[in-house]
Amino acid sequence: MRKNKYLDKIITSTLCKNFDSVSIINNAQLANYTTFGIGGECSALVSIDNLGTLTMILNHCHEQHLPYYILGNGSNLLVTSKGISGVVLDMRNMNSCEVFGDFIYAEAGVSLPRLANIAMQVDLSGLEFATNIPGTVGGAVAMNAGAFGSDMSSIVQHVTIWRNNKIVNIPNKNISFNYRKSIFTNAKDCVIIGVLLKLCKSSKNLIIDKMQKLTSIRANTQNVGYRSAGSAFYCTNIPPAYMIEKSGLKGMREGDAAISQKHSGYIVNMGNATSNDVRRLMRKVKSIIKMEWGEVLHPEIIYWGG
Ligand SMILES: Cc1cc2nc3c(=O)[nH]c(=O)nc-3n(C[C@H](O)[C@H](O)[C@H](O)COP(=O)(O)OP(=O)(O)OC[C@H]3O[C@@H](n4cnc5c(N)ncnc54)[C@H](O)[C@@H]3O)c2cc1C
Repeated sequence: MRKNKYLDKIITSTLCKNFDSVSIINNAQLANYTTFGIGGECSALVSIDNLGTLTMILNHCHEQHLPYYILGNGSNLLVTSKGISGVVLDMRNMNSCEVFGDFIYAEAGVSLPRLANIAMQVDLSGLEFATNIPGTVGGAVAMNAGAFGSDMSSIVQHVTIWRNNKIVNIPNKNISFNYRKSIFTNAKDCVIIGVLLKLCKSSKNLIIDKMQKLTSIRANTQNVGYRSAGSAFYCTNIPPAYMIEKSGLKGMREGDAAISQKHSGYIVNMGNATSNDVRRLMRKVKSIIKMEWGEVLHPEIIYWGG
């Protein structure tokens, strides 16, 4: 049960009154919108398919002091099973994309695998690493998503954002990209609208070859067979998966949350895991790794909830 029924009522009634042409689902189950399959109800989930709707809803939330959350593909999220009182803006339908020479402008909701394919079709290299990352471009910039030694920071030219009722472009150098982090990672007041990427011309065959190789490496090492949010932790010194495996924590379980048997950096939902199961497991792993290795694990997964 969510905590604030009064706020839920205000949110649903003001949205219904003001935005009857927008697709809004009251009391949407967020488990259906996260790759973990975990998450209770939100007050309302608004499907954003263009900039006009996005700015209208954001302005409304600001004027009425309504809490809001930005949802990409939910692939790096753990949402509380108690649910959240707030408006969730689902960005996945704001997903157009344009190629200009070596540049691609992608709206925030474009999926990374789709974008990597579009780049490949026009012989542009630089996005092969993203072929199998199940996020949107907006989520990927917020998290500086990456794999196999590349990440978003190496291809982002600038990011177009909504902030304080204004739309501005932020150049790469002002985004403070770091390992799986950027200025947008936990920013409450910035919404990524679109991203300009600079790629480089290459041969289609070379790009396809690289995409296929990376796909097969991932299939062998990361195809864990259960729902997850990818790597649960990051650490600046030793890879968390290595320490977790060497400490014999594979398969360790709290409720229905478990350390994957296949990739020890992943926490998986074995069926009916709750957000508390995952959080208890993360706390246990963190404390064992601190004790045995002296290393501090930081959660890579973003938590939505009290
Ligand atoms: C099987 C699996 C494999 C994965 N492999 C990788 C990997 O190899 N490398 C890697 O880096 N990650 C990986 N991930 C994690 C995840 O896919 C990435 O972090 C991805 O970039 C998250 O994008 P998303 O759209 O799903 O974001 P979400 O999970 O929806 O959101 C993540 C954060 O970004 C914010 N956000 C989303 N969109 C916007 C926006 N438009 N404006 C502002 N903030 C926004 C959200 O509010 C939230 O704080 C994996 C996940 C899974 C499930």
